[in-house]
This record gives sequence, structure tokens and C-alpha cells, in this order.
Amino acid sequence: MENLTGKRPMSTLPRPTPDPTPHIPEVMHTGGIGGHPKGLSNLFFAEMWERFSYYGMRALLMLFMVAPVAMGGLGFEQKHAAQVYGNYTMASYMMCILGGFIADNFIGARRAVLVGGFIITAGHYTLALNSVWSFYTGLILVALGTGLLKPSISTLVGGLYSTKDQRRDAGFSLFYMGINIGAFAAPLVTGWLAQSEEFRAQLIQWGLDPLHAWHWGFGSAGVGMTFGMWVYVRRINWIKHIGDAPSAAHRRPWLKLCFVFLGTALLLTLMILSDTYTWIAYLIYALPPLAVIYFGLFRQDEESRRIAAIFVFFIAAVLFWAVFEQAGSSLTLFADELTRNEIWGKAFPSAWFQSVNSLFVMALAPVFAWLWIKFGTRQPSVPFKFALGLVFLGLSFLLMVPASQFTAAGKVSPWWLIAVYFLQTLGEMCLSPVGLSTMTKLAPERLTGLIMGIWFLATSLGNKLAGDLAGDFSSKDPAALSHFFSIQAMIVGGMTLLLFALVPWVKKLMGPHHHGHEAAHHHG
Ligand code: GLN
Repeated sequence: MENLTGKRPMSTLPRPTPDPTPHIPEVMHTGGIGGHPKGLSNLFFAEMWERFSYYGMRALLMLFMVAPVAMGGLGFEQKHAAQVYGNYTMASYMMCILGGFIADNFIGARRAVLVGGFIITAGHYTLALNSVWSFYTGLILVALGTGLLKPSISTLVGGLYSTKDQRRDAGFSLFYMGINIGAFAAPLVTGWLAQSEEFRAQLIQWGLDPLHAWHWGFGSAGVGMTFGMWVYVRRINWIKHIGDAPSAAHRRPWLKLCFVFLGTALLLTLMILSDTYTWIAYLIYALPPLAVIYFGLFRQDEESRRIAAIFVFFIAAVLFWAVFEQAGSSLTLFADELTRNEIWGKAFPSAWFQSVNSLFVMALAPVFAWLWIKFGTRQPSVPFKFALGLVFLGLSFLLMVPASQFTAAGKVSPWWLIAVYFLQTLGEMCLSPVGLSTMTKLAPERLTGLIMGIWFLATSLGNKLAGDLAGDFSSKDPAALSHFFSIQAMIVGGMTLLLFALVPWVKKLMGPHHHGHEAAHHHG
């Protein structure tokens, strides 16, 4: 028992770096909630607050941009606002590539979280100012800071466990719960500050301008992020054994940094241009399958094979997020226009459906954490879990087919959407925390941050694709609507079958120690 929880097995020791604390105290690896390493609770709360600020701000973003100037908004046209929104969410996840690279090669994950966190905080407070100039500056700062923080905080969680530790996926499930506590609470708080009559009246009472209520909302995101940084800095000694900067002997690759910077900028520009020139998007989406073929079939070394596996997961994840991230678009329109928004006789705003997913994650994350631990060495392999994630995702859109048909007779019950979000959350739990865990495990040590960046690139492209797909949504015609959902369910279904067929190959690509825990015993 001592050995399992206390020390990393020899084979997974990191390459030697001048570590000032080579003897890791036992307490670093246990002593936390549910027998997890103590550092997990630091990362759990820091990320909870970071996501509070991210989703709290995101909840206001669209509304603030389209609100008329006379109401304190920016008065943008809806189309322009949607573009800014789509490109902002895409950019903040795309910056993870650059941030991950900087963490790997220059400052280490622990410091990347710190620096990124300060930049994010500065961004939210900038958004609290009242001008168009500060608006764009704030967005850029939040996107850049997120790029530094988001991949690195996940890398740190991965660093708490050896690659063979049975608690690993469970740890990521708990971490994921922190994310969603923040995501659930944030819109309630920022929305109330920015939109409610009560708070406006309060501002008047204080002798302040009620039109600035939006900026109080953005400011509260900044306060949330400040809490996050406070938690992180206060407990930083719980994670001081992980996420160091590379040793001084490792030459700083400035030239490569320029390439990664230019590459990210180019990709971002191309994706923005693909709004006008669709063929650019097809070219970009063809690259990951080519990467699987190249690394999986034409290269023989272990590292390349693992990279091939990473790209298989990448493709599944892009598809997953492309459907899932329509929660804010297609499904919100369905909620707003075609759903009877009342439960047990009580009416509620359609926007509340946005919190349903986070609520389910909070309920299900402990269940999944327990499940993976209970299965222990018999738990399904990672590619199998991914395929399962797609099964639930496909089922969720399949459920939208009859729901759409019923709209012919008028608004439908809210339980349809609630069931849809339940299925999607089951899928999310099989794919998203498992994906985080797997990326940190498969990545060659010196590339962990970059590979996390690639994982979030899947979210970035998925968000963009979700926007494009949602363009075909039409609430007027039930037949067209059910077609809209059934087509997507079928595509997901087809990809799921393909992924199931690839499970044995992907397991081989991942190598004996990495694909879950059962194969070593059952094969042969
Ligand atoms: N909701 C999760 C988060 O904010 C997952 C986001 C994603 O990767 N699409 O971290």
C-alpha cells in the first residue's frame, strides 16, 4: 500500500532535473479529500474560481454586446456580436497551444498558472471599465491568460499521480467537478449583477450609474479570479514538487517559440477567414486524420505511436464538442422558442437551461470517480470510454428527433431538454476528464504542456464547428428540425462505430501501461 500511494514507480520517474526537493514527503500523495493527493484540493479550488470567472464573463458577453448603448451595452448588431463571441471562445482555447509550449520550455506549469491567473484577473478588471477600447483589451488579456493557465493547471493535476495510479481518472473527475461548481454558480451571480432590476436600484441608491451594471458583472468575474489566485498562492507548497521549469541545462528554444507563436496566429487567422472561405476549414479538418495515419502507420517509434493515439482522441473530441457546445446556440434556441419553460407549475427563464449540464456534472462526477475506482484494474480502456462518450452524445441528439416532431403540436415539455442534457453529461464524464487524464499520461514528458494545448485545440475547433452547425437550425419547421438533429446523430453514430472498431489498435498505439489497466492481464 505504501508503495502504491507513496512513491512513483521507477519506470515513470521524470528525467533528472535539479530538483531542490527530491524527497517527496508522503503527505503530498495522500492526505487530501477521498484519499487523493493534498495538492488536488488546491488545484480544485483554483480552477473552480478560474472557471467561475470564465463562464461568468461568457454568460454576459453576448448580451452585453447586443444591448443598446442607451442600456449600457455596446449596441453591436447580432451577427457581428456572434462573430466576436465565436472567435473569442475559439481563441481562448487556441491560445492553450502557445501557453502550453511556454510552460514546457520556459517557466514550468506551476508558474504558468500563476502568471496566466494574473493576466486573466487583469483582463476581467479591464472589462469592468466602460469603453470599447477596454472591452477588446480585456478580451485579449483573458484569452491570453487562459492559454497559459488552462493547460497547465490540468498538467499539474496529472503530475500528482503516477501514470499507473488507479486514482488518476477519479482525481480528474473530482477536478472536473470543481470546474462545474464554478461554471454553475457564475452565471447566477454575474447575471444578477448585470441584468437584475434589484441591483440597478441598489446602484442608484448608492448614487452610482445603473447603466454600469454590466461592468459590475464583469468586475465580479475579476473578484472570483482574485479568490482563485489567493487560494493558489496560499497553498502553493502543496504542489511544489510538480510543474517545475525545465532545468537550466535545457536551452531555451526562442526560435521554436517564434514558430509556435506564428503558427498559432496563422491558425487563428485562417479559422477566422474560413467564415468567408469554407474550403480553408475543410483543409484544416483534414489534418488530424492525416496525423493519425502518418504517426500511426509510417513511424515505428513509441513516441510517434502515442502521438497517433492522441490524434485519434483529438478527432473524437472535436466531434464531441461540436455537438455539445451547441448548448449555447441550437439548444438554447430550442429552449427559448419551442419549450414550455415551467416545472411543477413554476415558470423559469430559458437561460437557466445553461446550468443544467453543470448541475448534472456536480451530481455525476463523484459517481464516476467512485465507479472508476471500483472498477480498478478492470475498468474499460480509454478508447472504449471515448467511444462510450460518443454513444451518449449521439443518443442525446437522437432524443431531440421526437422532441422536434412534437413541436408540430406546440411547445414541448422541458423534460426533453433535461433528459438531453443528462445524456450529454454522461457522455462528457466518459470523455472530457478521461481525455485530460490521458493527455497528461501519454504526452512525452517534455511535451506535456503542448499536448494539453492540442487537447484544448479540439475544444477550440469544436466550438467553431458548433457555431457553423447551429447556423442550420430552424425553429419554424418541425420536419426540418428533426432532420437537423437526426443527421448529426447519425454522423456521431457512424464515428462511434468507427471508434469502437479502432479500440484494439488504439490500445496498441498507447502501449501496455497507458490504455487503462486490463489488457496486460487478459491478452495472450
Ligand atoms: N467545461 C469544461 C471546462 O470548462 C470543458 C470545456 C471543454 O474542454 N470543452 O473545462
